[in-house]
Amino acid sequence: MKLIKKEIPQPFLRTLPAGMKFISKNENEFLVIEKLLCPHGHNLVSDEVHIHGEASIKLQIKLNECEGILFLDAFWGSHTKLYSFIPNNHNKIEIIDIYCPICGVSLLIDEPCPAKDCTSKKMVQMHLPGKNNRILACSRFGCPEHRIEINNMNNNVTEMIDDINFFGIGLEDDLFKGV
Ligand SMILES: [Zn+2]
Ligand SMILES: [Zn+2]
Repeated sequence: MKLIKKEIPQPFLRTLPAGMKFISKNENEFLVIEKLLCPHGHNLVSDEVHIHGEASIKLQIKLNECEGILFLDAFWGSHTKLYSFIPNNHNKIEIIDIYCPICGVSLLIDEPCPAKDCTSKKMVQMHLPGKNNRILACSRFGCPEHRIEINNMNNNVTEMIDDINFFGIGLEDDLFKGV
Protein backbone atom coordinates (compact mmCIF):
# COMPACT_ATOMS: atom_id res chain seq x y z
CA MET A 1 0.00 0.00 0.00
CA LYS A 2 1.47 3.26 -1.13
CA LEU A 3 0.21 6.31 0.68
CA ILE A 4 0.13 9.44 -1.43
CA LYS A 5 0.69 12.67 0.41
CA LYS A 6 -1.71 15.55 -0.12
CA GLU A 7 -1.32 19.01 1.31
CA ILE A 8 -3.67 19.60 4.25
CA PRO A 9 -4.88 23.24 4.43
CA GLN A 10 -3.16 25.27 7.17
CA PRO A 11 -6.40 26.77 8.60
CA PHE A 12 -7.71 23.24 9.06
CA LEU A 13 -4.50 22.19 10.79
CA ARG A 14 -4.87 25.06 13.25
CA THR A 15 -8.51 24.33 14.05
CA LEU A 16 -8.62 20.58 13.73
CA PRO A 17 -12.13 19.52 14.69
CA ALA A 18 -12.68 17.11 17.59
CA GLY A 19 -12.86 13.53 16.39
CA MET A 20 -10.08 13.93 13.83
CA LYS A 21 -6.35 13.52 14.29
CA PHE A 22 -3.15 13.61 12.30
CA ILE A 23 -0.84 10.66 12.15
CA SER A 24 2.59 10.40 10.58
CA LYS A 25 3.40 7.60 8.20
CA ASN A 26 6.56 7.55 6.10
CA GLU A 27 7.28 11.11 7.28
CA ASN A 28 3.98 12.32 5.87
CA GLU A 29 0.95 13.51 7.79
CA PHE A 30 -2.46 12.00 7.24
CA LEU A 31 -5.87 12.99 8.46
CA VAL A 32 -7.63 10.19 10.30
CA ILE A 33 -11.10 9.98 11.81
CA GLU A 34 -10.84 9.08 15.47
CA LYS A 35 -14.38 9.51 16.71
CA LEU A 36 -17.57 9.41 14.69
CA LEU A 37 -20.97 9.20 16.34
CA CYS A 38 -24.46 7.92 15.62
CA PRO A 39 -27.34 10.33 16.50
CA HIS A 40 -27.49 8.61 19.92
CA GLY A 41 -23.81 9.25 20.66
CA HIS A 42 -22.32 5.78 20.09
CA ASN A 43 -18.79 5.82 18.73
CA LEU A 44 -18.72 4.16 15.29
CA VAL A 45 -14.92 3.92 15.29
CA SER A 46 -14.05 0.39 16.32
CA ASP A 47 -10.82 -1.34 17.34
CA GLU A 48 -12.16 -4.66 16.05
CA VAL A 49 -10.68 -4.25 12.58
CA HIS A 50 -7.67 -2.12 11.70
CA ILE A 51 -7.21 -0.76 8.17
CA HIS A 52 -3.86 0.81 7.30
CA GLY A 53 -2.93 0.34 10.96
CA GLU A 54 -5.79 2.40 12.39
CA ALA A 55 -9.16 1.57 13.94
CA SER A 56 -11.92 1.53 11.31
CA ILE A 57 -15.49 2.84 11.09
CA LYS A 58 -17.91 0.01 11.82
CA LEU A 59 -21.40 0.12 10.33
CA GLN A 60 -24.31 -2.30 10.00
CA ILE A 61 -25.42 -2.30 6.39
CA LYS A 62 -28.36 -3.66 4.42
CA LEU A 63 -27.96 -4.10 0.67
CA ASN A 64 -30.45 -5.51 -1.82
CA GLU A 65 -30.37 -9.10 -0.64
CA CYS A 66 -27.84 -9.18 2.16
CA GLU A 67 -27.06 -7.63 5.48
CA GLY A 68 -23.88 -7.49 7.48
CA ILE A 69 -21.07 -5.39 8.88
CA LEU A 70 -19.06 -2.91 6.83
CA PHE A 71 -15.72 -1.52 8.00
CA LEU A 72 -14.60 1.74 6.41
CA ASP A 73 -11.05 3.05 6.36
CA ALA A 74 -10.72 5.94 8.86
CA PHE A 75 -8.10 7.67 6.67
CA TRP A 76 -9.78 10.72 5.23
CA GLY A 77 -10.26 10.37 1.48
CA SER A 78 -9.69 6.63 1.41
CA HIS A 79 -12.43 4.43 -0.02
CA THR A 80 -11.17 1.13 1.33
CA LYS A 81 -13.96 -1.08 2.66
CA LEU A 82 -14.11 -4.50 4.25
CA TYR A 83 -17.30 -6.52 4.47
CA SER A 84 -18.38 -9.31 6.80
CA PHE A 85 -20.23 -10.78 3.80
CA ILE A 86 -19.79 -10.88 0.04
CA PRO A 87 -22.01 -8.37 -1.73
CA ASN A 88 -22.98 -9.22 -5.33
CA ASN A 89 -22.35 -6.63 -8.04
CA HIS A 90 -21.48 -4.11 -5.39
CA ASN A 91 -20.87 -1.30 -7.89
CA LYS A 92 -24.47 -1.39 -9.07
CA ILE A 93 -26.27 -1.61 -5.77
CA GLU A 94 -27.50 1.09 -3.53
CA ILE A 95 -27.47 0.91 0.23
CA ILE A 96 -30.98 0.09 1.40
CA ASP A 97 -30.17 1.10 4.92
CA ILE A 98 -27.15 1.68 7.12
CA TYR A 99 -27.29 1.60 10.89
CA CYS A 100 -25.35 2.13 14.05
CA PRO A 101 -24.15 -1.40 15.01
CA ILE A 102 -24.79 -0.63 18.68
CA CYS A 103 -28.35 0.80 18.77
CA GLY A 104 -29.60 0.18 15.22
CA VAL A 105 -30.54 3.79 14.46
CA SER A 106 -30.50 4.56 10.72
CA LEU A 107 -27.78 6.89 9.46
CA LEU A 108 -29.52 7.64 6.15
CA ILE A 109 -31.03 11.06 5.60
CA ASP A 110 -33.26 12.31 2.76
CA GLU A 111 -30.86 14.51 0.85
CA PRO A 112 -30.10 14.23 -2.87
CA CYS A 113 -26.47 13.54 -3.74
CA PRO A 114 -24.95 16.69 -5.29
CA ALA A 115 -22.64 14.74 -7.64
CA LYS A 116 -23.46 15.50 -11.31
CA ASP A 117 -24.18 12.03 -12.64
CA CYS A 118 -25.55 10.48 -9.44
CA THR A 119 -29.29 10.10 -8.88
CA SER A 120 -29.12 8.93 -5.26
CA LYS A 121 -31.69 10.64 -3.03
CA LYS A 122 -30.09 9.61 0.24
CA MET A 123 -26.89 10.47 2.04
CA VAL A 124 -25.21 8.73 4.97
CA GLN A 125 -24.82 11.11 7.91
CA MET A 126 -22.26 10.55 10.68
CA HIS A 127 -21.65 13.06 13.45
CA LEU A 128 -18.32 14.37 14.67
CA PRO A 129 -18.16 15.47 18.32
CA GLY A 130 -19.45 19.05 18.61
CA LYS A 131 -22.73 20.63 17.62
CA ASN A 132 -23.57 20.45 13.88
CA ASN A 133 -20.23 18.88 12.95
CA ARG A 134 -20.81 16.03 10.56
CA ILE A 135 -19.58 13.96 7.66
CA LEU A 136 -21.92 13.18 4.77
CA ALA A 137 -21.31 10.49 2.16
CA CYS A 138 -23.37 9.31 -0.79
CA SER A 139 -25.33 6.09 -0.17
CA ARG A 140 -24.53 4.73 -3.63
CA PHE A 141 -21.54 2.43 -4.10
CA GLY A 142 -19.03 3.77 -6.56
CA CYS A 143 -20.05 7.40 -5.98
CA PRO A 144 -17.12 9.25 -4.38
CA GLU A 145 -19.28 12.09 -3.04
CA HIS A 146 -18.44 12.94 0.56
CA ARG A 147 -18.10 16.15 2.51
CA ILE A 148 -17.29 17.43 5.95
CA GLU A 149 -19.29 20.17 7.69
CA ILE A 150 -17.70 21.91 10.63
CA ASN A 151 -19.52 24.59 12.56
CA ASN A 152 -17.63 27.91 12.53
CA MET A 153 -15.19 26.76 9.89
CA ASN A 154 -14.91 28.60 6.60
CA ASN A 155 -16.52 26.65 3.73
CA ASN A 156 -13.45 27.16 1.55
CA VAL A 157 -11.38 25.22 4.06
CA THR A 158 -13.82 22.33 4.37
CA GLU A 159 -14.11 22.17 0.57
CA MET A 160 -10.34 21.79 0.33
CA ILE A 161 -10.59 18.92 2.80
CA ASP A 162 -13.38 17.33 0.74
CA ASP A 163 -11.04 17.22 -2.25
CA ILE A 164 -8.34 15.29 -0.41
CA ASN A 165 -8.15 11.75 -1.67
CA PHE A 166 -5.12 9.90 -0.39
CA PHE A 167 -5.53 6.63 -2.17
CA GLY A 168 -7.40 7.38 -5.37
CA ILE A 169 -10.90 6.36 -6.34
CA GLY A 170 -11.37 2.75 -7.40
CA LEU A 171 -8.63 1.25 -5.29
CA GLU A 172 -11.19 -0.27 -2.97
CA ASP A 173 -11.90 -2.88 -5.65
CA ASP A 174 -8.35 -4.23 -5.32
CA LEU A 175 -8.74 -4.51 -1.59
CA PHE A 176 -12.30 -5.71 -1.62
CA LYS A 177 -12.67 -8.95 0.31
CA GLY A 178 -14.77 -10.53 2.98
CA VAL A 179 -13.44 -10.59 6.52
ZN1 LIG B 1 -26.08 4.17 18.19
ZN1 LIG C 1 -23.76 10.06 -5.19
